[in-house]
Amino acid sequence: MSFYNDVRAPGGAFSHPGEECGIFGAVGHEEASFLNYYGLHALQHRGQESCGICSSYGGRFHHRRGMGLVKEVFTQEHLEELPGVAAIGHVRYSTSGESHLVNAQPLIFRYRGGELAIATNGTLTNAPELRAELESEGSIFQTTSDTEVLAHLVARSREASLEEDVFQALNRLDGAFAFLILTNERLIAARDPHGFRPFSMGRLGDARVFASETCAFDAVGATFDREVAPGEMLVLDDEGNQESLQFAEPRRRGVCTMEYVYFARPDSDLDGINLHSARKRLGRRLAREALVEADVVTGVPDSSISAAIGYAEESRLPYEMGLIKNRYTGRTFIQPSQGLREQGVKMKLSAVRGVVAGKRVVMVDDSIVRGTTSLRIVRLLREAGAREVHVRISSPPFQNPCYFGIDTPSRDELIASRLTVDEIREKIGADSLHFLSREGMVEAIGRPECGHPDRGHCLGCFTNEYPAPTYEEER
Ligand code: AMP
Repeated sequence: MSFYNDVRAPGGAFSHPGEECGIFGAVGHEEASFLNYYGLHALQHRGQESCGICSSYGGRFHHRRGMGLVKEVFTQEHLEELPGVAAIGHVRYSTSGESHLVNAQPLIFRYRGGELAIATNGTLTNAPELRAELESEGSIFQTTSDTEVLAHLVARSREASLEEDVFQALNRLDGAFAFLILTNERLIAARDPHGFRPFSMGRLGDARVFASETCAFDAVGATFDREVAPGEMLVLDDEGNQESLQFAEPRRRGVCTMEYVYFARPDSDLDGINLHSARKRLGRRLAREALVEADVVTGVPDSSISAAIGYAEESRLPYEMGLIKNRYTGRTFIQPSQGLREQGVKMKLSAVRGVVAGKRVVMVDDSIVRGTTSLRIVRLLREAGAREVHVRISSPPFQNPCYFGIDTPSRDELIASRLTVDEIREKIGADSLHFLSREGMVEAIGRPECGHPDRGHCLGCFTNEYPAPTYEEER
């Protein structure tokens, strides 16, 4: 198998490219790469480090990948050079300080069965074991990417067709994944048997589109059709033929709770639940659990606005724009070092003096990870004259790392794994601090019962109980 992505990584050490990303695909549309462009643009919040699109035309692939935002990497001319009625695309989150073009997807491979381009969102928990096994059998890896593990498995499979090779390869994978795989004739979409990461299919006339989030369907004028089912592999061609295969039995549902709490865009729906409405319910529930006498409620833009509105409605306090975000800076996690992150937060947010001066302020945020953001914001509000600052978090304490596709710091960097709630309160300088209860969160999100007290969510970052093995102890 040859790996012919145009860049080689310096030094050979990378982060997991599969983590924290957005994927989009289209098949059966004359302007498939343009659809990808608009779809990826709508998914930009899921990753700003790099992006790429690969189309298939004339029996070969056409692709472009680059560092930066979708609008920076692609021009009209670039997209015109990506012809064909099928294309897949990817936006990648920065999971470490290093930024390498080699991590940009879709990754493209050639093997005896043909060419394949792969775009993925998620993390394979058994990737190290699979890699060791494949290497011991002679495979040579060019990256440390999980995606390449899938490519090698496909290349080693000895089935009659590429689709069957992919089917067998998917069976070997553990963890969280949503894959889009493009071949010269087909588009394949697959989702892990737990359904950790969001992944849906939409329709645009006769064309089919796939996206990490439904907001990308709205962006291209497509309508939501259905979610890709856990353990399902869909094979589509550009004539509208579609085959649904079950490469593995669905296992205990593990929809990522952080998607509801923080990641997904408020205008997306996940498992039939609108994210803005779910977050408002989180805020309402938080107000019921941790009401406080105050004058105004404000949310940390942008991800906590919905929860703050919910808190305000329930507590009958006015919701105010106490904090303003400079929309031209990225998310804080892009900053590599703690020092830069602190600076980043400062660049990013300002408090509105006229709103908070002399007031008792409830500041709602969706989560505390390292504690940097809360510390900075409490300080900002006080500097702007707030008399009291009450911090309310619309999720439980984030105490454990994620092994299923969300980039998180190590356990000892998670402030809630080291400190009690009161110690955190003191550290961030708040007058009071409350986290939403686990039950409150699960009920407020409102997914139907799935035969488990967690309603089919993955709550691992809050509870240290994961719906699938993490393999951490064995290692
Ligand atoms: P921290 O400053 O480390 O406590 O991070 C908390 C802030 O980052 C919150 O305001 C969240 O909205 C946001 N956040 C939560 N989880 C993540 C994540 N995995 N990646 C990036 N940002 C996050």
